[in-house]
Amino acid sequence: MAKIGINIATGSLQKEEIIVGIDLGTTNSLVAVIHPGTNQPVALKEHNSSSLVPSVIYFDENRNITVGEEARGKLITAPQHTIFSAKRLIGKSFNDIKNNASFFSYKIIDDDPEGLVKVQVGDKFYSPVDLSSFILKELKQRAEHILKTPVNKAVITVPAYFNDAQRQATRDAGRLAGLNVLRIVNEPTAASLAYGLGLDKTEEKTIAVYDLGGGTFDISILRISNGIFEVLSTNGDTYLGGDDMDNLIVSYWIQGSGLSKEDLKLNAAFAQSIRLKAELAKIHLSVNESFEDELNGDKLLITKLSFNELIQPLVDKTIAACGAALKDAALKKEDIDVVVMVGGSTRVPLVKESVSNFFGKPVNDTVNPDEVVALGAAIQADILAGNNKDFLLLDITPLSLGIETMGGLMDVLIPRNSKIPNSVARQYTTHKDGQGGIKISVYQGERDMVSDNRKLAEFNLTGIPGMPAGLPKVEVSFMLNADGILMVKAKELRSGVEQTIEVKSQLDLTDQALEKMLLDSITHAKDDMDTRALVEARTTGEQLLATTEKFIQKNAVYLTSEEMMQTSASMQALQLSLTMGDKDLIQTKVEALNEISRPYAERVMNLVVAAAMKGKEV
Ligand code: ADP
Ligand code: MG
Repeated sequence: MAKIGINIATGSLQKEEIIVGIDLGTTNSLVAVIHPGTNQPVALKEHNSSSLVPSVIYFDENRNITVGEEARGKLITAPQHTIFSAKRLIGKSFNDIKNNASFFSYKIIDDDPEGLVKVQVGDKFYSPVDLSSFILKELKQRAEHILKTPVNKAVITVPAYFNDAQRQATRDAGRLAGLNVLRIVNEPTAASLAYGLGLDKTEEKTIAVYDLGGGTFDISILRISNGIFEVLSTNGDTYLGGDDMDNLIVSYWIQGSGLSKEDLKLNAAFAQSIRLKAELAKIHLSVNESFEDELNGDKLLITKLSFNELIQPLVDKTIAACGAALKDAALKKEDIDVVVMVGGSTRVPLVKESVSNFFGKPVNDTVNPDEVVALGAAIQADILAGNNKDFLLLDITPLSLGIETMGGLMDVLIPRNSKIPNSVARQYTTHKDGQGGIKISVYQGERDMVSDNRKLAEFNLTGIPGMPAGLPKVEVSFMLNADGILMVKAKELRSGVEQTIEVKSQLDLTDQALEKMLLDSITHAKDDMDTRALVEARTTGEQLLATTEKFIQKNAVYLTSEEMMQTSASMQALQLSLTMGDKDLIQTKVEALNEISRPYAERVMNLVVAAAMKGKEV
């Protein structure tokens, strides 16, 4: 399906705009997009480098900012100027993190322990939102460089347990980085999407997503049905991850040497170097039986067996959390249909085996665990862009749905691109006294006049008891089910009379017909706006004529003959203007008539009130 981007605000056609998926991680971040050739999600990377961008920010003396691998190197030489794990600070106060303050080697301000934390670098202060925005800006620039096109729109993932404030903060960071954040998606949901889960509407599954990253561990239990993901429970530990494995290896090496933990504290550079060696060892042991290296002439050695012993308690902790998450979701292990592995640390064989043993089934680990969240975000982005055709047709209404109101105007109840299932109700009223019926005409399309749109159905709500115009309350409800079947109900709320019809699927338009309708709405946007303004002016004019007419009939005795003459002339002028296609003229005449009637309308109102106070009928 050829795609057309439409800017509804400006009514202009746009070139297809790319929407990227971003995994903004505690340790690593990355960007992914749907490859236009293969239609598969891919993580973006420059030649011969990793797709992962370490979530580390370095500020040099001149406050220049570097993000990524180079900044990670500065952890050793400039710990006070190098910020890592900023994601842990999002939406947090100093009190929230004070128990872990020693974790951060940079300066966190504590002068307002209740307020949101700030980080100090040199004489400058940065909020976690600022820091995240630096990472996002780097990702945006990388993506633009690789894709050779501006990138302004993104889907960003967050942990399932993030609260509203943390989600909002992530959005703000995106905005600061120059990104329009179209959606914030839960990391486990994105990971499931990357495995194709949830793309089939009929699928009903319970999914466990086990995410062991650099510094955090999350287990989320998700339920998917009708293409909607629901988080049943989350559990985990925000200070447990691959970094802890590295630290365990460091301690192991330190114990085997003459060094003490104190030496490590005294020599920050040495501490960082040995930690990086430890990470190398860990990664090496994911596919080898032993690791051997040296640092400053000292031998560094560790076998897989020793490593597994070291990390066993850590792995056990994650398994206990899995049990707790199941309990919270009121589920048994057997209820889990799919287990999805996320995060670099799930590459550790002991982790994989333990999780598989616990759930009693093989785990899904075929998608790169470092990239799986970003890949899923890219799929979500593609769905939002409307490129995923099957999903588009099933998941959202391709065209607006509405009814005809006075003057032949389209009143949209369910706008185009609304999620389905969906239901909306709106109240209308009659415009004639004693009107016993009301015609409901249902249309589909983007134009302002129903005559330019496609008529889907029409029916009459009859049997409304006689009431003055404006008094009946007719509620029209649109209920669009997941199959695209629209039910339209009209109900007069005072009397209870109602009528319902079913409108056959409105998804049966061909792609070309759909595109034509959308294009037409843009081509005619200006005309449509003018027409709508004219119709609205006419409707106002007609209504004013009717109410004035009624008022005069009832209150003629209170008006002077001059007022009568002026009113009658003004009404004629308005009547005449209605036959001409000039909305400004109509408005002038409406105002003129209002001007003339206001003094006596007020006078009569006062008389009525005074009479009522005396207990007399006027
Ligand atoms: P986060 O989601 O916290 O940003 P990631 O999912 O990128 O983190 O995971 C980063 C962690 O994964 C680091 O601790 C890294 O050392 C670890 N890691 C990466 N590759 C491997 C591997 N092959 N074996 C073991 N651990 C790995
Ligand atoms: Mg992650």
